[in-house]
Amino acid sequence: PGRQDGEVGKAQQAAAAGEKAGGQPTIFSKIIDRTIPATILYEDDKCLVFRDVAPQAPVHFLVIPKRPIPRISHVVPQDTELLGHLMVVAARMAQAEGLADGYRLVINDGKHGAQSVYHLHLHVLGGRQMGWPPG
Ligand code: 5GP
Repeated sequence: PGRQDGEVGKAQQAAAAGEKAGGQPTIFSKIIDRTIPATILYEDDKCLVFRDVAPQAPVHFLVIPKRPIPRISHVVPQDTELLGHLMVVAARMAQAEGLADGYRLVINDGKHGAQSVYHLHLHVLGGRQMGWPPG
């Protein structure tokens, strides 16, 4: 009721739906295997980078591991090298996208983090002034 029906409510519903689907292939698996199209910026054996379909800034792309880790809270010490790789790729791609004045890296986790796709991803947002704290 009331404000619950607004953006926060929708984000919570999406997060809850993703939680129920935990462990199932997500839309990002279909982007990795090219079943559905995306604007792909970079690919290597461990990760894929593509533009967000609903950009929240002039530049908004996602860095995902090809291995479908559902969420950051599920990572284990063996994932350390992969996670480092994702961050190094994010920074390199931000530079390639011309984000010399800075940018925001975001990982949403679970219900309270408003995660909607349960395949780990780093958001890279830039090209405008960000605010703090985030919503
Ligand atoms: P989350 O809320 O899980 O952190 O972010 C998921 C992101 O994936 C959202 O920003 C959403 O716009 C993006 N997204 C969802 N479905 C697709 C899709 O089919 N293609 C692309 N390129 N982005 C998607």
